[in-house]
Amino acid sequence: MSMKSLLRRKTLREIDLLEKVISTFDGLARVEIVEEIEFEGRVFPIHVIEFGSENPEHPVVGYFGGVHGLEKIGSEVIIAYLESISTLIKWDESFKKRLKHSRMLFMPIVNPVGIWLRRRSNAQGVDLMRNSPSEGQGKKTFYSGHRLSNKLPWYRGEAGEQMELEAKALCKVVRERLFPAKMSMAVDIHSGFGAKDRFWFPYARGQEIFPHISEVMSLVDLFNKSYPHHFYTIEPTSSQYCIDGDLWDYLVDEFFAIHPNIKANEKMFLPWTLEMGSWIWLKKNPLQILNKLGFYHPLIPHRYQRILRRHLTLFDFLHRSVLFPSPWVDINNTESKKFQLLAKEKWYA
Ligand SMILES: [Zn+2]
Repeated sequence: MSMKSLLRRKTLREIDLLEKVISTFDGLARVEIVEEIEFEGRVFPIHVIEFGSENPEHPVVGYFGGVHGLEKIGSEVIIAYLESISTLIKWDESFKKRLKHSRMLFMPIVNPVGIWLRRRSNAQGVDLMRNSPSEGQGKKTFYSGHRLSNKLPWYRGEAGEQMELEAKALCKVVRERLFPAKMSMAVDIHSGFGAKDRFWFPYARGQEIFPHISEVMSLVDLFNKSYPHHFYTIEPTSSQYCIDGDLWDYLVDEFFAIHPNIKANEKMFLPWTLEMGSWIWLKKNPLQILNKLGFYHPLIPHRYQRILRRHLTLFDFLHRSVLFPSPWVDINNTESKKFQLLAKEKWYA
């Protein structure tokens, strides 16, 4: 056995789970290790998995999890989704047909060392979701990101330094595999904030209005009508807080720098953050607050299973919405103005 493969011995339960699911794809997915993070003599791979069309311009949804190590439930939600897809892709003709014209991309464990260490940050103590050069504009709180010390949570890393390997790997994947598509979305799954499931679009840095806000509102309207009893609070991240260094803000800026003033029906990149409201789980089982993971992770088995399946409708809706964008993207001037006004009243008053 080579030294590298000795180093590579399986260590992390979530990576074991993921590799087990990958082994069931029977060559129907494209799997790549896009980065390896070394830590204390071990090597932790970061996987990217892709299903569907190999045409880079075809619409794509990227599902990202485990950016914050303590919120590993996000990785587990994605792995559970991959389990379903592994079966669907073998028998469901309509699902297979969809993938002829679209792609689904998965980066389930962005911060494996954070999961290994049971902490939010990576090995360097950097909060990856505060690690980009994007600067917050609104009224900031302490958790908005800082450069005081990597011993404190929400540490951004040093100014002017390169971004962390994990953050760079995520940005590279988005740049190379999402940006070329005519329509791309990302959903980055977190937990730990509040008692509701929140679904956020940019920006996280402040109350600035997202350029394609009419289409976002139009999509939300379509979701509300398609699933009138859904439980999500949909809003810009800045409705809850303003932060420095958000990776998705940084990528949105990069997208619009490459395509200034582009119309949504010509090309669109829309990153979402799903914040699963873990206080619901705490309320049902207050004692789990005594467990370090408990704040971010459902500990009771039936509750855990419920979380694994809770967001499948949303995930599937996102895939269909990039595949069939016309109803929410091809809106006329009057509709566009109407949605913009609605958005301003609802989110930016
Ligand atoms: Zn998080």
